[in-house]
Amino acid sequence: MLPVDPFIGLGQATRMNAKQKTIALVTGASRGIGRQVAQDLADAGYRVVCAARTTSAVDELAREIGGVPLTMDLLQTDSINKGIDWVESHVGPIGVLVNNAGIATSAPLPQTTLDIWTQTIQVNLTANFLLTQRCLPKMVAQGEGRIVFVASNAGLTGYAYTSAYCASKHGVVGLMRSLAAEYAKTGVTINAVCPGFVDTDMTTAAIEKIKTATGRDETKARSALERMNPQGRLIGVDEVSHAVMSLLPYEARGINGQAIALDGGQVMK
Ligand code: NAP
Repeated sequence: MLPVDPFIGLGQATRMNAKQKTIALVTGASRGIGRQVAQDLADAGYRVVCAARTTSAVDELAREIGGVPLTMDLLQTDSINKGIDWVESHVGPIGVLVNNAGIATSAPLPQTTLDIWTQTIQVNLTANFLLTQRCLPKMVAQGEGRIVFVASNAGLTGYAYTSAYCASKHGVVGLMRSLAAEYAKTGVTINAVCPGFVDTDMTTAAIEKIKTATGRDETKARSALERMNPQGRLIGVDEVSHAVMSLLPYEARGINGQAIALDGGQVMK
C-alpha cells in the first residue's frame, strides 16, 4: 500500500472527527488503469465511486473494495449529469476526480470517419470537461480538491495514424492547463499523467491491430510497442496509479498544471 494521506487538505481534521472519508470518483474503473487506481484509492482510505458502462464489472469491483458502483456512459451527456447528481445526493460531494476513461482509435486520416472523430473527442475530452465542470464548484466550496486526468504521451507529441486520439489527448492537456491556472487560488489542484503504452486491454487491442495490418506475429507486434519506450517495456498499471496517487496528499498541493510523462523517457519536455 502507498504511504498516502487519504485526507487531502484543510478540512482533514473536521472530516476525521466526523469519520468521513474523502469521496473519489474514478471513471473507466471497470478494468485496466482505472480499476487499479480505484483499488489503490480504497486501500488508502478513500470512499471510491467506481464508474464505467459495464455494470457487472463496477458492481464486482465496488463489492471487492467497499466502494460504490456507478454505471455511466460518457457518450451520453445525460448519463454524466444523472451520475453526478446521484453521487452528490446519495454518497456526498466529490473531493477527488480521476478522469481516466478513454477509448483508443487509430486510422489513417482518410479512414478517420466523422463518427470515429466525434466519439473519440466525446469520451476522451468532452466527457472530462463535463465531469470537471460539475465537480469543481463543490471542491471550491470545500476549499480543497484534486482533479487528475489520465491523458497520454499522445497529449504531448504527435503519433501517425491516431489523429483523433492525439487531438483528444492534446485537448485534455490544454483543458487541464487552463483550469489549473483558472483555479490556482482555490485549494484545488489539477494535473495530468501522460503514460506511454500501458499493459492493458487497450494495448492488447493495439497489438491485434498491428498484427492484422502488418502480418507480424504477437511477439514482434508487442515488441514494436515496447521499443517505443526507451526502457524497452510496457508501463504497468501500478506505475500509472502510483503517479495518480502521488498527486493527492496535502503535501502535493504545490503541484498544479503539470502533465507528467510516464513513458520511460520517450517524450521529454
Ligand atoms: P481500457 O483497459 O481499455 O479501459 C478503458 C476504460 O474506459 C474501461 O473501464 C471502460 O469501461 C471505460 N470506457 C470506455 N468507453 C466508455 C464510455 N463510453 N463511457 C464510460 N466509460 C467508458 O483502457 P486503459 O488502458 O485502462 O486506459 C485508461 C486511460 O488511460 C484512457 O484514457 C487511455 O486513453 C489512457 N492511456 C492508456 C494507455 C495504454 O497504453 N493503455 C496509454 C496512455 C494513456 P466500460 O467499457 O465498462 O465502459
